[in-house]
Amino acid sequence: MAKGPRLLVLGGTTEAFDVAQRAAAKYVVYYSLAGRTKTPVIPEGVKVRRGGFGGANALAAWLTRKRIDRVLDATHPFAQNIAKNVETACKQTQTDRLKLLRPEWKEQPGDIWHHASDIKDAARLLENTKKRVFLSIGRQAIDTFSKLTNTAFVVRSIDLPKPTDFPKNIKIITGRGPFAIEQEHKLLVQHKIDLVISRNSGGYATYGKIAAARQLSIPVIMVSRPPYSPKKIVDTTESAVEWLQITNLRFNS
Ligand code: NAP
Repeated sequence: MAKGPRLLVLGGTTEAFDVAQRAAAKYVVYYSLAGRTKTPVIPEGVKVRRGGFGGANALAAWLTRKRIDRVLDATHPFAQNIAKNVETACKQTQTDRLKLLRPEWKEQPGDIWHHASDIKDAARLLENTKKRVFLSIGRQAIDTFSKLTNTAFVVRSIDLPKPTDFPKNIKIITGRGPFAIEQEHKLLVQHKIDLVISRNSGGYATYGKIAAARQLSIPVIMVSRPPYSPKKIVDTTESAVEWLQITNLRFNS
């Protein structure tokens, strides 16, 4: 690995993977994952760390100990806790930080979207309905939705969640993106889905189900993003790479 300025990339997204891999040619890159996925994809040439830091203060101490010059928070748009911790820790340690936040999806002609402010709001919209719902929100969704016994859910997760004795109305399928539109179209038809619940994650990797729902005139409950502080946010990997290239960094050996 090249000796150079030290960069922490908070990962778990396609964008984080792309930027970390490109940055590794010039930087000492620490690539941090929450550790939720059993077999995550790892960029080449980076040092990987897994698991939480233990809050903002512990992250600040870690940044100091590792003499980190820059932090790129490229975590998922719904990963709010780590985003706040990064902001606090970087302020404390005066470490330069950038948030890479991919653009939201916008409703297109033919889409039938209902908006929910969060997951619980989405669950409330389902009360007293009898639907077959595709949920690609992952294992966290199971507890919130399993009590809606009139509704049948197909839940997609990267790994099989534990414990594996799911309520009768929940069917788990596993899969790792990106998911093509044709693949999602087939899945919605195969499981006789008549409603999709999705977070407004943005990006191409999980957009297939939204496009397939449009093709099949299936309504979507779209869960809005949590708000973010407007400082130092870019929305493309190119902008993040540019930020990494143009700045003067001190070199550690
Ligand atoms: P979260 O609520 O913001 O994170 C919960 C805690 O997990 C954080 O406080 C932090 O623990 C730890 N953590 C999160 N991301 C980390 C990282 N990259 N490196 C080290 N520790 C991390 O986030 P979440 O919604 O549970 O998502 C967890 C991870 O999965 C994120 O990295 C995100 O990019 C990825 N992901 C999330 C989603 C989603 O839908 N939310 C989808 C795809 C990928 P400490 O406070 O102990 O440091």
